[in-house]
Amino acid sequence: MKILVSVGTRPEAIKLAPLIGALKCAPEIDTSVCLTGQHPDMAQSALREFGITGDTTLRVDADGQTLPDRFSHFQRALGRHLLDSSADWIVVHGDTTSTFAGALAAFHSKVKVAHVEAGLRTGDIANPWPEEAYRKLTAAITETHFAPTRRAADNLIAEGVDPDRIHVTGNTAVDALYGMRDRISQDSALRQRLQRRLNQITGGRPHVLVTAHRRENHGAPMRQIARSIAELARQFADHVFVLPVHPHPDVGATVRAALSHIENVRLTAPMGYLDFLFALESATLVISDSGGVQEEAATFRTPLLVLRKTTERPEALETGAATLVGTDESSVIRLAGRILRDGSDGNGNVDWLNNPFGDGRAADRISRYFRNLALPDAIGSFASVASIGPRLGATALD
Ligand code: UDP
Repeated sequence: MKILVSVGTRPEAIKLAPLIGALKCAPEIDTSVCLTGQHPDMAQSALREFGITGDTTLRVDADGQTLPDRFSHFQRALGRHLLDSSADWIVVHGDTTSTFAGALAAFHSKVKVAHVEAGLRTGDIANPWPEEAYRKLTAAITETHFAPTRRAADNLIAEGVDPDRIHVTGNTAVDALYGMRDRISQDSALRQRLQRRLNQITGGRPHVLVTAHRRENHGAPMRQIARSIAELARQFADHVFVLPVHPHPDVGATVRAALSHIENVRLTAPMGYLDFLFALESATLVISDSGGVQEEAATFRTPLLVLRKTTERPEALETGAATLVGTDESSVIRLAGRILRDGSDGNGNVDWLNNPFGDGRAADRISRYFRNLALPDAIGSFASVASIGPRLGATALD
């Protein structure tokens, strides 16, 4: 069996890395990794942190930055690559331009689509944009759906997806995070290096970690976010506000204009995944519009303000560590101020056993699905949602 794993962006690289590792260990499967070039540097360096290099890197299209330009480019380039590679399956992840372009290219080539992190929904096609549409469109042409949570599986069932084709696996983000946590805890030299690098940014002061990049926040919302951080930095001068700037040009210009002159704001280059996790675990507060950061902050129980109108990860809100705040300046300042003044009981109390996003074994479950297809009976059966009943969750799958 030949599987092509398509990796477009940094979060896809981080969340597919555990699965790529598991698939590459299966001798009955020929797994190759294709970098689409959506985040050419960040995806490659994230994979490298897991000791993975891509087998193919598609040419980056210099012709246009608009969504239609990028979508057409990825779809064409992945279509050509699928023909050359004669893959049986493409594995796509999440909801990016590369995700849907890869799924559509595979559909056109009659290659089966497996969708990892399937079934996340806000129910609002404009938020996040364009991701909510990409998720739904990808689901429509997916053969096998790997839903991270029971709730995600239910979203798919509500849209009419056959339960026999849905598998609740947990989120591979948790696998990636647990793997890195183990590495950090077992390697004191690595831990010291990470602490030293963080101290170089914060000067040893307590810090707030900020990330913002979503397209629906570009323009006025991003300016509001930047102004909120400026005001919070003024009010909480004992804290350092660390903001790794996403490389999208619309983000950098706005945050630099508003924040680069402030003493206790540090605008940094995108951090390596390990450095980012280390900074996230020890932050007093995280303020972010990211999807993956919601899973990570909930796992570390670091208080998180979500800079969005709505979330496809309500599990993060249910842990009590995350609050949906939007981008309104006064709300961000008020809620962040409350946590920074009064503290929060969330920080540091990691509840590894009751993580709503998974148990760290999602990649193993997904790779077993494929191994079972490649060599039926060798691995043991793999339950679909239909056969595990409506009440069981991710961890009950095996
Ligand atoms: N991340 C990172 N370095 C950074 C910022 C984020 O490695 O400077 C990681 C973070 O740990 C998470 C992922 O990137 O796993 C989130 O990516 P992003 O916010 O760009 O995308 P989203 O999750 O919103 O799709």
